[in-house]
Amino acid sequence: MSDKTVCYNPSKLYEPIFDIETGSYIDSCPYVKYKRTPKQIYMCKCNSTSLFTNLTEYTNHIKTANHKKYLENYLFFNHELFELNNTLKEYRIDYELTHRKYMSVLEQLSRNDNNHKNIENKLQEDIANLENNLEISKVDVIDLNKRLEISKVYVVDLNKRLENNQLVVVDLTQRLEDTIENNKLEYALLNNKLKHYIKHNLELTTENELLYKVRVLPI
Ligand SMILES: [Zn+2]
Repeated sequence: MSDKTVCYNPSKLYEPIFDIETGSYIDSCPYVKYKRTPKQIYMCKCNSTSLFTNLTEYTNHIKTANHKKYLENYLFFNHELFELNNTLKEYRIDYELTHRKYMSVLEQLSRNDNNHKNIENKLQEDIANLENNLEISKVDVIDLNKRLEISKVYVVDLNKRLENNQLVVVDLTQRLEDTIENNKLEYALLNNKLKHYIKHNLELTTENELLYKVRVLPI
């Protein structure tokens, strides 16, 4: 099978890894031994034409003097990239802090909005209760007005009955006074009759006594 018929994945950039123990960059094979995977081309920055497509080519490449020199001076050749990476990290940290602040403000705004909605709901509930109470009060006022009208009619009736009773009292008083006056006149008349009767009786008694004496005493 010729190279022209082999299907390759898009090229990738080969990068050494940082070794924590030695504090330097070392090679790390991107191919897995004895494993059939899609062909992958790697380019190495040690040379603009350096590339490898399998484990053998990779092993040969990292043994070249050019690559070894590149690996030894990896920090120097890539210092701009590292600085950019550091700057990018700082930007990411700034972005993360800003994003957290933004989310915090957003959350606070959401809480404020919820509080505002709760207050608005409570106000609407209070207004509805007040309107209900107002309607109930209106009904009470209508009922009280009706009872007041009935009471007014009752008072008018009582006043009429009081006036009638006053007229009856006046009439009865007049009758009583007339009766007393009549009784006085009758009493005076009877008293005169009695006096005449007593006087008449006295005269008769005196006359009888004289007759008695005339009969008893000899002449
Ligand atoms: Zn290289």
